[in-house]
Amino acid sequence: MTDLSTSSASAAPDRMPRRVRHDLRFRRLTVKAAQRVTPHLIRITLAGDYLAGFTSPGFDDHAKIFFPDATGKLTLPTVGPEGPIWPEGRPTMRDYTPRRHDADAGTLEIDFALHEAGPATQWAERARPGDVVGVGGPRGSFIVPTEFDWHLLIGDDTALPAISRRLAELPAGARVVVLAEVDSEADEIPFDTQAELTLKWVHRRSTEPGLSPVLLDALKAMQLPAGDFHAWVGCESAIAKALRAHLVGERGANPKWTRASGYWRRGAVATHDSHDE
Ligand SMILES: Cc1cc2nc3c(=O)[nH]c(=O)nc-3n(C[C@H](O)[C@H](O)[C@H](O)COP(=O)(O)OP(=O)(O)OC[C@H]3O[C@@H](n4cnc5c(N)ncnc54)[C@H](O)[C@@H]3O)c2cc1C
Repeated sequence: MTDLSTSSASAAPDRMPRRVRHDLRFRRLTVKAAQRVTPHLIRITLAGDYLAGFTSPGFDDHAKIFFPDATGKLTLPTVGPEGPIWPEGRPTMRDYTPRRHDADAGTLEIDFALHEAGPATQWAERARPGDVVGVGGPRGSFIVPTEFDWHLLIGDDTALPAISRRLAELPAGARVVVLAEVDSEADEIPFDTQAELTLKWVHRRSTEPGLSPVLLDALKAMQLPAGDFHAWVGCESAIAKALRAHLVGERGANPKWTRASGYWRRGAVATHDSHDE
């Protein structure tokens, strides 16, 4: 008798994303290097003994970055049975993507997209080797299979780390379309990938970043490949919501294979909006 559950000859590819939980850890790390990659992007390399055991298997994982106060003092919580326990007032914290973790070198890279004003942006602009910062998590990862006919990645500067990671992990032969918004040509970055990449950069039309629906206009004008695709979106929240609605409503995206997040929200601080059902 044939065991159908183990028969793989005609099995459909596994396309269901999977959530993985990680033990919560808070790490006190030190800036090893600060590099201006483009006019609007600073790469901070962090290091320190506490980095041991760090894990980030999902391309769009995020860690909480905790910033020191005005006196340079960094407050971090301990981990209790119910979650973080804060000894005193909470520090300023923001979400960032672990762009690259090198366990052998003991380093973690975070790319900070620079905008008008915000404590994270200001910290990155002033960061020097030896400065301390806290990193919490990632608490969990969302693992998206690669077995789709093709992949769509859309985002602004804040999503470039996640897009870079996805491009790096997609296998040779995968097809991927990337639509990315930055300020100008000088802000475009190179991507490493084995996949067959179609890349479209768009530049902001407005002086206020994220306010122009330039990503939405560009997507509407794009011809997309045929076949089943996974769509990933990360950018200003209202734009991410509109992009998702267009993809699902007009472009045949499967809602189960579409992941759209607001990585920041116009006029609000420290937001993370999921627009998925
Ligand atoms: C899951 C996740 C992963 C993220 N990964 C990254 C990453 O790897 N790199 C990265 O640079 N960002 C990333 N972000 C976005 C980042 O957390 C926000 O941009 C954050 O608000 C920046 O903090 P801030 O202190 O500079 O500004 P805030 O104090 O939070 O905001 C101050 C003002 O600036 C506006 N603002 C915030 N961000 C932007 C922006 N990018 N452009 C224009 N205006 C803005 C706000 O609307 C507000 O009016 C991520 C966000 C999420 C949710």
